[in-house]
Amino acid sequence: MLCSSCGAPLGAVAHIYDDRLLCENCFLKIGSPSDANSPAHTVLFGQLDDQEREKAWRAIPPESQPLLPPDPESSASPTSFQAPPHPTLLIPGEQVIWQRTFKKGIIHRHATLTEVVTNLRALAIDDQLKSIVRGTPLKGAQVVVMDTTRVSTGVKSGYGRRGSYIGTSSGTSLTFGNVEFLLQGSLSFILYHVKDPFGLKRLIDGSVKSSKK
Ligand SMILES: [Zn+2]
Repeated sequence: MLCSSCGAPLGAVAHIYDDRLLCENCFLKIGSPSDANSPAHTVLFGQLDDQEREKAWRAIPPESQPLLPPDPESSASPTSFQAPPHPTLLIPGEQVIWQRTFKKGIIHRHATLTEVVTNLRALAIDDQLKSIVRGTPLKGAQVVVMDTTRVSTGVKSGYGRRGSYIGTSSGTSLTFGNVEFLLQGSLSFILYHVKDPFGLKRLIDGSVKSSKK
């Protein structure tokens, strides 16, 4: 992930400010406005291993992955389905539209990580540190779906009374894929192995469009 101002790789600390994801240098250069110097804007980039995060999500059975909220298009309030994980990490007017959490024991025994998409940003939050460890603003960001796979669940096969093969019955086939965020052409955040990634992309694009109104 690169600074969306100077293009340098992000160090241990980055900052989400307005519509940019900034390295420490660029953030200091703009004079560190005090409202941006809060935990809601600070990304502890060095505290998360993205490969580990990807591996953990791929290890979680498809049944345990969260579904999208029902029919966000027609819902009067598409932002109301989950409470914010740590209210101090959200900025005023920011509302959660999608989230998922690692169950304890998958990465580290007591660590949980929550990934959140809001009407303004996409974030990964370390629940023990109560800090943002990855994130991107959505304003001006491009959302793309990559690396899709079909995953089957609930497939049954069996034999009939006389031993004849009946075959597989209607299992559910689900699409999984990465939802990637590009900020000024460079990759700023990845949600790995998301159930119904195209649905999530539609949800995000719709939310960004309606917040521009
Ligand atoms: Zn920079």
